Amino acid sequence: MKVLVVNCGSSSVKYSLFDMEKEQKIAWGLVECIGLEEAFYKRQTITVPQVKTSCKVANHFEAVQIIIKDLLDEKTGSIKDIKEIAVVGHRVVHGGYKFSKPVLVNEQVKKDLKECYSIAPLHTPHHYAGIEAVEKMLPGIPSVLVFDTAFHQTMPDYAYRYAIPSEYYEQDHVRRYGMHGTSHKYVTQKAAAMLNIPVDKVNLITCHLGNGSSITAIKNGKVIDTSMGFTPLAGLVMGTRCGDIDPAVIVHILAKYPKMTSDELNNLLNKQSGVAAVSGIAGGDMREVEDAMLAGNKKAELAFNMLCYSGKKYLCAYYGILNGIDGIVFTAGIGENSPLTREKMCEGLDNLGIKIDKALNEPRSSKERFISAADSKIKVMVIPTNEELMIARESVEVLNENK
Ligand code: ADP
Repeated sequence: MKVLVVNCGSSSVKYSLFDMEKEQKIAWGLVECIGLEEAFYKRQTITVPQVKTSCKVANHFEAVQIIIKDLLDEKTGSIKDIKEIAVVGHRVVHGGYKFSKPVLVNEQVKKDLKECYSIAPLHTPHHYAGIEAVEKMLPGIPSVLVFDTAFHQTMPDYAYRYAIPSEYYEQDHVRRYGMHGTSHKYVTQKAAAMLNIPVDKVNLITCHLGNGSSITAIKNGKVIDTSMGFTPLAGLVMGTRCGDIDPAVIVHILAKYPKMTSDELNNLLNKQSGVAAVSGIAGGDMREVEDAMLAGNKKAELAFNMLCYSGKKYLCAYYGILNGIDGIVFTAGIGENSPLTREKMCEGLDNLGIKIDKALNEPRSSKERFISAADSKIKVMVIPTNEELMIARESVEVLNENK
């Protein structure tokens, strides 16, 4: 059985084709810089190394068409007949108040998805275009939507509500939703297996640290709180996002600069803030920030310290509300690859039973592993995330439920 996973991002479309018998990725790639002169297509298969070609692509609908056409190419494609694809899984960033679990696409689901446009305007229209392109190119093949927000739907009301007048919740659906749910779910399942604890009994803190970062408190395998909020802007200091700030700062900025538009303000907080703003390193790429810090750049050091400190505060808060944990998981670009960040976030927590072993933390590896010291009460793990595989698994599950 083959499953195609499509991930329509803000300016790119990524895809992976899985053979689910072995849960093996057999073809993958992306169309990047959609709508720009420099747009390109990168493709790779299990037997053919990466090929990069430039392409003309105006929008996400066209990008998905390019990908599917290529997968079906007589000479170089990985699929001979569209019927080989059992289901297409679409990553959807925000399920809003309409979706709390993965769903099979039908006309009502598409209508409901359109209602989520205003909550995630940079992504949802592209997801919609992706669904329509699949419907055109792969007629009769079912599509499933897998939401980044779904895993967080088990949060209690006192964790997801904001203390602002109720009408903003009731009419405008303003509440904490949380993001990166597919990744947090994947590493929760992996960690439970590594710890030899049934998933519905495992208590964890999962740290997804990438350009965007979020930390989640997992009780008995379910989310009880998470650091991102109504949007991915909340929580930790991130690459270019400010994370938690006093909301009055925004009111103050708007009062002082009344000509600033909501788009400009959004851009300021999402694209011009975070590690990038503090370090002065464009994009806030953690590798560059660490290199600069190690070379003595004080601004880079401050940015690094701020990111780690904001993460450590969530780690300790969630340790408290969970009343003890079995393990801590680090995942995503920074979580998987930066020993310095992991060390700094866990520094000085030996009183809580959290101790990293430097010799286990340092080596680079693409395998899941323990990095806690032998006498650490809490196990600390690095687990490479695999959101695409999780989407493929969930798509098959939904397909089977609907048979
Ligand atoms: P996203 O999916 O949110 O765009 P990723 O999960 O790919 O982001 O993470 C990207 C981040 O991971 C970047 O800040 C990058 O610098 C960081 N990263 C990747 N490799 C390393 C490394 N070896 N050391 C430190 N940071 C790294």
